[in-house]
Amino acid sequence: MELKKTIDSATLEAARCLIDGHQRFVITTHISPDGDALGSAIGLHRWLKKKGKDVTVIFNDAPGMNLSFIPGHEEGIIYETQDKSLPSQKEAALKTLHAAEVLIASDYNELSRTGEMATELKKLPIAKMMVDHHLNPATGEFDVIISHPEMAAACEVVYHLICELGDADLIDETIAGPLFCGLMTDTGMFSYTVNDPSPWLVAGDLVARGADAERFRRDCELETERRARLMGYVLDQKMTLIPEHKAAFFSLTKPELKKYGYQKGDSEGFVNLPLNLYGIRVSAYFREEKNFVKVSLRSKGDYPVNEICSRFFGGGGHKNAAGGEFHGSLEMAEKLFLKALPLYDRFL
Ligand code: 5GP
Ligand code: MN
Repeated sequence: MELKKTIDSATLEAARCLIDGHQRFVITTHISPDGDALGSAIGLHRWLKKKGKDVTVIFNDAPGMNLSFIPGHEEGIIYETQDKSLPSQKEAALKTLHAAEVLIASDYNELSRTGEMATELKKLPIAKMMVDHHLNPATGEFDVIISHPEMAAACEVVYHLICELGDADLIDETIAGPLFCGLMTDTGMFSYTVNDPSPWLVAGDLVARGADAERFRRDCELETERRARLMGYVLDQKMTLIPEHKAAFFSLTKPELKKYGYQKGDSEGFVNLPLNLYGIRVSAYFREEKNFVKVSLRSKGDYPVNEICSRFFGGGGHKNAAGGEFHGSLEMAEKLFLKALPLYDRFL
């Protein structure tokens, strides 16, 4: 079975012109980068470097320890470091941004998803290209939009872009590795949306080109002691089940996070855990941050958590994985979730 070409020819030619006609590129991705954000940015970075371009990756904030198994995780400049012991890289990032000719947005659909950095990105008078798989791309913000919500990961979109531009031969082990990692993590270890053969075909080709699937699969499950203990606490003490709505939720307060020495990324994926319980089809995680509550929702089947996030929590996302920011207390966020649940029972 062959993988179909997916990028329409006008978009592909616009991307080709942009790449062939410029030298200095900067690649950005969304706040709190996940495996797909990181893998797609690094894949693009290494591919453009092979083509002789000057390329820099700028992350708004540092990728968590949980992503350290992804090759190239240390390859970017960090715009807003949370770790005060590290020197600020903001000046270097700004200098790079202002010297760039093309901005590439990888794994996000609107500039505001880049956090603090968004203010600068919006001001940049340079060509902007999106390579993404989220719904509703902000068309007014970009010159070239390669947006494929039907794809499982931005890494899959990047793979198509490279191949359809005729550069498949440039995908060696160093590019295949990060792309494979992003595809693997955004599909939840090849468990969501994989009745579609396309992600498997892409993954298979990446393995054929040298991605060490066995090692990535194993290493991405490594835990820190901190994270393992926090996970135990969440499951034992914090998880509330609402069987009548096939739902579960948990919250973590600032003092609880402090007690467990929480660092960014430590609770990545926890929101999926309740979905492993018999009879649970929707799960929510509320985390107390400095000025807001970070909301994460997950679901199974047709249950559209992105609708709940956009209607109640000022966010959005995918049908089965969405998030938002709530400006209020943890208790208010939980109450709002409980109020929303009966409205969505028809999707259970
Ligand atoms: P997470 O729960 O891992 O933070 O986010 C899951 C998905 O929801 C992300 O891939 C992203 O698509 C979406 N998402 C998370 N937070 C926000 C937000 O604040 N606004 C919007 N529009 N989407 C979000
Ligand atoms: Mn993604």
